Amino acid sequence: MPFIDLKSQYAALKSDIDARIQKVLDHGQYIMGPEVKELEQRLAAHVGVKHCVTVASGTEALLIALLALDLKPGDEVITTPFTFAATVEVIALLGAVPVYVDIEPDSCNLDARLLEAAITPRTRAIMPVSLYGQVADMDEINAIAARHGHIPVIEDAAQSFGASYKGRKSCGLSTWGATSFFPSKPLGCYGDGGALFTDDDALAQAAREIRVHGQSQRYTHTRVGVGGRMDTLQCAVVLGKLERFDWEIAQRLKIGARYQQQLEGLPLQRLAVRADRDCVWAQFTVMVENRAAVQQALNEAGIPTAIHYPKPLHRQPAYARPELSFPHAEAAAERVISLPMSADLSEAQQDQVIAALRRALAER
Ligand SMILES: *Cc1c(COP(=O)(O)O)cnc(C)c1O
Repeated sequence: MPFIDLKSQYAALKSDIDARIQKVLDHGQYIMGPEVKELEQRLAAHVGVKHCVTVASGTEALLIALLALDLKPGDEVITTPFTFAATVEVIALLGAVPVYVDIEPDSCNLDARLLEAAITPRTRAIMPVSLYGQVADMDEINAIAARHGHIPVIEDAAQSFGASYKGRKSCGLSTWGATSFFPSKPLGCYGDGGALFTDDDALAQAAREIRVHGQSQRYTHTRVGVGGRMDTLQCAVVLGKLERFDWEIAQRLKIGARYQQQLEGLPLQRLAVRADRDCVWAQFTVMVENRAAVQQALNEAGIPTAIHYPKPLHRQPAYARPELSFPHAEAAAERVISLPMSADLSEAQQDQVIAALRRALAER
């Protein structure tokens, strides 16, 4: 059983994706070809915002979002310590300072109740992460940001593209929404890709310039930028994937709900999904005690697992802050384990996962 079944997905979409790739090979506009704009229009409509700017990866999306906000060395960006390193990496790359706020122990998203205390006169952005595919408390975060001089809010939505929040869509909830099309994300390409979303015309224009080395016109470099475009072939792949994306999201919600229901009563903690939003389960993650033994038993039963993430960022060598402690992030890092999840996971496969987990928990 694969951890994420991209082969079945390709088999279902093969003729459409192949045709779109062939079309790019035929027209030869490998950089900024027509598929780039077509995808940006489709995605902006999907999210319900004015602008989508495709970029080279999710990491690049976060970096360009911060560059467009003119972040300076020493500026502070508030985020969560329990995320993929890219979230904090882009802050550090700009010489800015990550300021951490602990997570809610049940949802693993940034605890908005702790946010206000972390704001200082140097705070230049707030970057919550919609972890595992569940949108963070964006309304609360936006309201606090607005009260403190309209601090820009960037949703790291690398795991939550397609998720709903109070009838709206992830990526369309704050100053910037940033997502990733890494193959294993809910909407993936066949390499690296990402996108930024905003309703702000000036920010969108800035991002479009930054992704092509800060050019406002050809060979007029008005700002410091990056080589951050998403290539035409990858845009064509995502266009192909959009053909059944709504079905895939519905499948993910269904499989996630079925997993959650079947795990009821077992000695583990399920992720809390708030009633006013859904979770698209970029990772289907639960929390267990004695994780190493559970993971080994699952491995022996042929069930692939992964740990998202084994160490909070303030405990990683590159970002070590030994003086700081975030008890919920630290506890989650010791207990989380992710199970196989993809839209093509059959009920028989789901049952096999649950049965193996049940045995693993009984044995440990
Ligand atoms: C995957 C991921 C990223 C980075 O996306 P890439 O496309 O791999 O660069 C950033 N933040 C989070 C939370 C992610 O899961």
